[in-house]
Amino acid sequence: MRVLITGGAGFLGSHLCDALLRRGDAVVCVDDLSMGRLENLRQARRNPAFRFIQCDVTRGLDVPGPVDAVAHLASPASPPDYLRRPLQTLAAGSRGTEHALALARRHGARFLLASTSEVYGSPEVHPQTEDYWGHVNPVGPRSVYDESKRFAEALTTAHRTALGVDTGIVRIFNTYGPRMREDDGRVVSNFITQALGGDAITVYGSGEQTRSFCYVDDLARGLVAMLDSDEPGPVNLGNPAEFTVTELAGLVRRMTGVEAPVHYRELPQDDPPRRRPAIDRAVRTLGWRPVVDLAEGLRHTIDWFATRSGDPATEPLAEVGARSADLPVVG
Ligand code: NAD
Ligand code: UDP
Repeated sequence: MRVLITGGAGFLGSHLCDALLRRGDAVVCVDDLSMGRLENLRQARRNPAFRFIQCDVTRGLDVPGPVDAVAHLASPASPPDYLRRPLQTLAAGSRGTEHALALARRHGARFLLASTSEVYGSPEVHPQTEDYWGHVNPVGPRSVYDESKRFAEALTTAHRTALGVDTGIVRIFNTYGPRMREDDGRVVSNFITQALGGDAITVYGSGEQTRSFCYVDDLARGLVAMLDSDEPGPVNLGNPAEFTVTELAGLVRRMTGVEAPVHYRELPQDDPPRRRPAIDRAVRTLGWRPVVDLAEGLRHTIDWFATRSGDPATEPLAEVGARSADLPVVG
């Protein structure tokens, strides 16, 4: 297969590039590098079957040559990233998704949308099943992300029903692992960098809110399984083992061996109090389930954060497409 991955220089996208290249697929990675890093593609760029194009998908999307599948991951993804870029986030979910779908349609390609557990908002149903419609504040701060993904799901579904595009939607739950940005503001990267740097661990609110953390290798395997299937979804991809934020802080302190103090901060507005995926559909339709538990995944992630040297993205780019739109970044 020749697979186009938007957002391929990011955390999940770069692991997907590597997973597909490993099994012999050709990969075209499109990213505007607003949050992604060329460093994530170091391994991929050594492979002659890999091509990188710097391009803002909200401005248009075209690539030379055949395309058998499109995986659309381009979007600001961590809460601090999307809260700082409200308009870019809405544009990525709407115009970006439209351009990616149009390209898939032109090529007769399979289209995979990377949606999110955030479509469930602050869930009243627990664990979250795919038939739950969600509980989202449409004018709250997180709405720029949640509603953009909900719109992207609707647009994807309409392309399937009205235009016959072969589409699949996955709803990804909190995923962690090597190549997370140390400054992305997510809880796993924050706690690890804080502990390793000798800083206080910042727990927002009481720390009693829960999340279910999936290791990135498991998640990448799920994305590949969805690309290979003709399943329309939506399908939840996540690890159903549920932890409080306080439990996560304790685990990171124990595993880094750093007795970092815990500082409590205000809970962000509309922060979901609990989240856990029901994965029966993924097991049934994709034969997928996660196999890496939190302790093992954290060990790999802590080791990676502890040993990485940092490699600024200074290498020249092969190709440059549409540049990023001039939308304001807040804060
Ligand atoms: P990330 O920020 O590491 O990657 C996103 C990538 O998209 C970045 O490389 C960024 O530069 C790129 N991008 C953003 N806007 C773009 C645009 N307009 N044009 C081209 N490239 C653009 O985030 P991630 O964690 O790898 O998330 C990837 C996808 O998975 C996102 O769509 C996100 O919503 C979804 N997701 C991730 C998680 C998670 O836990 N990591 C959970 C749910 C959903
Ligand atoms: N969180 C925290 N301290 C941090 C970062 C996040 O306590 O330094 C909390 C956050 O309020 C949320 C949970 O950890 O309840 C997961 O946050 P993250 O940003 O990783 O992802 P979310 O699931 O909110 O999108």
